[in-house]
Order: sequence, then structure tokens, then C-alpha cells
Amino acid sequence: MKSTEIKEIKSLLTTPKKIVIVPHKNPDGDAIGSTLALCDFLKSKKHDAVVIAPNDYPEFLKWVPGQENVLIFDKNQNEAKSKIQEAEIIFTLDFNHFSRTGLMEEVLSKTTTTYIMIDHHQQPDDYANYTYSDVSCSSTCEMVYNFIDMLDETTLISPEAASALYLGIMTDTGSFRFSSTTSKTHRVIANLIDKGAKNAIIHQDTFDNNSYERMQLLGVALNNMKICAAYKTAYITLSQEELDQYHFKKGDTEGFVNYSLGIKGIIFAAIFIENKADQIIKISLRSKGNFDVNQFAREHFHGGGHINAAGGRSDLNLVETTQKFEKLLPDYEKELKDEA
Ligand code: 5GP
Ligand code: MN
Repeated sequence: MKSTEIKEIKSLLTTPKKIVIVPHKNPDGDAIGSTLALCDFLKSKKHDAVVIAPNDYPEFLKWVPGQENVLIFDKNQNEAKSKIQEAEIIFTLDFNHFSRTGLMEEVLSKTTTTYIMIDHHQQPDDYANYTYSDVSCSSTCEMVYNFIDMLDETTLISPEAASALYLGIMTDTGSFRFSSTTSKTHRVIANLIDKGAKNAIIHQDTFDNNSYERMQLLGVALNNMKICAAYKTAYITLSQEELDQYHFKKGDTEGFVNYSLGIKGIIFAAIFIENKADQIIKISLRSKGNFDVNQFAREHFHGGGHINAAGGRSDLNLVETTQKFEKLLPDYEKELKDEA
């Protein structure tokens, strides 16, 4: 961000304002961590701040402090809409385009107020008055820390906000293992621990929170895994029937896609999850190295994301979707072969 922009934002935040903070639909650890931490920070500066999430999020994110500041749009549309319309500032976090907010897209695109975007996804849209975009950054949580640092106010980061920021950096970096994890990321993490983030407890509360049924569903997913050795690719499918059998709850399939990348030689992984209610197949894609799954998701599955982690959807049925996927692989033979 330019220093003139920082100055302008600083001056905007000198007097109490009505502020709305928005994460993307189906919020993940980074979306929830960054919005709740920013909300806590703004409240400590006496702003009237609220997080409005497009829809609900998984149980394993409900330990994050500050849940009372979250309004779920699809359950409280009227209240949420009036807060958006009254907002003097709207922060949009961890997404690059209003379409990523589902049902909220319409009201957000019609509302004229000061928008501030903080995000690390590729190809940010230009709706915001202030855009802080860094596609090389590990997470929006790391960017929120940097943002508060640019305002010279890291002393206002409470232990609760530090925990929330730690969460998003941890989940978006695959527990500090993806190549987006830099020495700077580790320095931010060290500062967050100094500010009161209880690292071991955060890992435990987030990852050791599984139901037995989720573990059984993981067993089904691993059994369904298919390897396309010639293209260093592996994919998993889960049908609605399989999800129902293990009483699928939001968040249960989080992380399943990564197991395929644990197989020696596999550099491209996908999971296809049937959603009968929405009549779509939800797709998650992951890669190692330079194979660009953001571009793959954009070109073929109405999606996007980052180079090594992206998502999208298909309107075909589950079998047709995987057939389409397998048929596309030869077109990427060179890119997939060139990778180690
Ligand atoms: P996940 O596979 O964990 O849902 O998402 C991986 C990354 O891709 C995240 O950064 C997420 O924001 C992005 N992503 C997931 N689904 C979609 C989608 O349908 N459209 C776009 N543009 N991005 C997505
Ligand atoms: Mn993120």
C-alpha cells in the first residue's frame, strides 16, 4: 500500500465509525481468523464493528474468540442488509471479487461507501477505494498483521486477535509447510505468540476436533482415490450418498484433497464432492511446484484461487465431471511432466 493511502486510512480511523467486515462464502480458517482479528482491533479503537459472513462455517472454527461479533447473512438478511447500507467503511477480506460472497453479492455491489480490500488471491477486482493485495503473501491473516503494523498499532493486538491471526496463517500454510511460508511469516507468528496466541492449543482446537464419523468418511474418500500416474495426478470423489451415510457436516471434508499430494510423485490433486441440494459438484484443486490450479479452475470449472490451491464447481453429474477432468489431463501433459 502507498504511504498516502495508509495516511488516509489512518485519518479515516481516527473517529469512531460504523464498520462492516466481510469474509468469503464458506469461510475457512483464514477468512474467519482475519475478520475476527480485524474486528477486535477496530473495536479496541472504539469503532462500531461487525463481521457479516455470507453463510455459516464449520464447528472446528467456533472456538475462535469474538464469535458474538459475527452475523450470518443468510440467516439474518434484514439486519445484515441494513448494517451494510449504514456502514461508513466496509472491509472485504480474503476474497477478490463480490461473486465470492454468494447471496451478499447483490447488496455489496449496490452499496456505495468506502471499501477496503485486504486479500492474497490472484486477479483482484477493482471495486475497493483502497486495495491491499499481495498474491505472494501466505494468508490474509498475515496481511492483516502487516496492515495493523503499517498503522503503527500492533500494540493494540489482543491475545484474542493474536490467536485468530495465528489460526489463519496456520490453516492457509498447511501448518507452516507450503512454499508461501516465509521467514517473515515465521516472524509474524513469533510476534503473535508473544502477544498471547496459545499455539499448541490452537492446533489442538482446530485439528483434534474430529468426530468418529468424519474419520470414517475420510476412509471412504481414501478408498475412492484414483491415480492417473501418467499425469502425476490423483483425485478423490465423494457422492451425496456417501456423505449422507456418515452424516456429513460442513467442514468434514476440509483437508481431504491434500492426502493425494502425500503420494510419492503426485503433483496435482483434486476432490469432487457431490452437493445434491445445490445441484453442483464442488471441486478443490491442489498442486505442488509451478502447476497453476488457479488457471485450471478458472478455465474449466468456474473457479479460481491461488497457484497451488484453488476451487470451483461443475454443473455436470459426478461421473461426467470426473470424465471431463480426466479428458483435460492430456492437454496439460507438458506442464505436469515438467514438474519434479
Ligand atoms: P478450497 O479448495 O479450500 O475450498 O479453496 C482453495 C482456494 O481456492 C481458496 O483460496 C478459495 O478461496 C479458492 N476457491 C475455492 N472455491 C472457489 C470458487 O468456487 N471460486 C473461486 N474464485 N475461488 C475459489
Ligand atoms: Mn486465505
